Amino acid sequence: MKILVINAGSSSLKYQLYDMTDESVLAKGLVERIGMDSSILTHKPTGKEEYTEVSEILEHTTAVRKVLNALTDAEHGVISSVSEIEAVGHRVVHGGEIFKQSALITPEAKSEIRRLFDLAPLHNPPSMMGIRAAEANMPNVPQTVIFDTSFHQTMPEKAYMYAIPRVLYNKYKVRRYGAHGTSHDFVSKEAAKFLGRPLEDLKIITCHIGNGGSITAVQGGLSVDTSMGMTPLEGLMMGTRSGDLDPAIVPYVMNKEELTVNEVNSMLNKHSGLLAISGISSDMREVTEGMEKGEANSTLAFEMYEYRLRKYIGSYAAAMNGVDVIVFTAGVGENSAVLRKRVLEQLTFLGIELDESLNAIRSGEPRRITTANSKVEVLVIPTNEELVIARDTFRLVQ
Ligand code: ADP
Repeated sequence: MKILVINAGSSSLKYQLYDMTDESVLAKGLVERIGMDSSILTHKPTGKEEYTEVSEILEHTTAVRKVLNALTDAEHGVISSVSEIEAVGHRVVHGGEIFKQSALITPEAKSEIRRLFDLAPLHNPPSMMGIRAAEANMPNVPQTVIFDTSFHQTMPEKAYMYAIPRVLYNKYKVRRYGAHGTSHDFVSKEAAKFLGRPLEDLKIITCHIGNGGSITAVQGGLSVDTSMGMTPLEGLMMGTRSGDLDPAIVPYVMNKEELTVNEVNSMLNKHSGLLAISGISSDMREVTEGMEKGEANSTLAFEMYEYRLRKYIGSYAAAMNGVDVIVFTAGVGENSAVLRKRVLEQLTFLGIELDESLNAIRSGEPRRITTANSKVEVLVIPTNEELVIARDTFRLVQ
């Protein structure tokens, strides 16, 4: 069965076409600048040359049509007809409390997703555009939705409730939902597989640190706590997001600087984090370079980022009364040996013994970076959120 995975943003649409007989990727790509005058389609067919096309793509339906044309093109295509695509899986950020699992798209599911626009105004509406665009182009193909929040629906009430008036939960469902659920789910299962141990027996802390970042306590295969909150702003310091801060800072700064709600939201989501402290970049590579050159602001940005991550690891070990495995994943987690080293050399109290030569190895494979004597196994596992979407879709449509 061939499955198309779609991840739609407001002006972009990423896709991957899977052949589920061996879970191989036949092609992947991206449409950028949707709605702008020169949109770009970048199409990467496996084993063939990359193809790019600049044209005017005003909305998502045209974007999906362009993707289907590229997939079936005589030269850079990988299938002979659109009818070979038997299902489409969509990534949706927010599933609220309704979607505890991935689901088939039905008229009811669509109205539930629309009802959740309020909780994720930046993320869910573009996903819906992707769903509509796929339905318009492939009206008879089953479609599914896979949510970033579903994996965290197993959190106990004490972890997901905020200590604010209960009426806000009752009226508006203000609570912790978390994010990156497909990634935390995937790498915790991969960790158990790699170690050859039953997932049910393990206490795992998964650190998904990319441009956005979140950390999850996974006990017996279930998310019991996670650092992102009602929105992706809470928790770790990120590329451009502040992560945790005293909530009283918000009204204080709004008052002093005469900021609107939108302005303060934008400040905390887009102009904070590594970018704000380093003053140069939200990209961990550039911040690390700055630190290595002895630049004071980059050094502080790196140290704050590392310190906050390490404190979360400590608190999740406490939340589970222990930890067997720590997993690093996503752009920073998979690639920054220096960040992993700096975090782990201050966690020796947990019995962690880093093997520096293993930590320095670069590979796209799951690997261990601790010594045989280490009491906690620390692993680097490349994440694959698209594969989770393809697998869930395969299961749902069968
Ligand atoms: P997203 O959250 O957008 O999916 P990714 O998981 O792709 O992000 O991570 C992107 C981030 O990974 C970049 O911002 C960059 O800072 C970081 N990154 C990639 N390679 C390295 C590296 N070698 N060292 C440090 N950071 C890296």
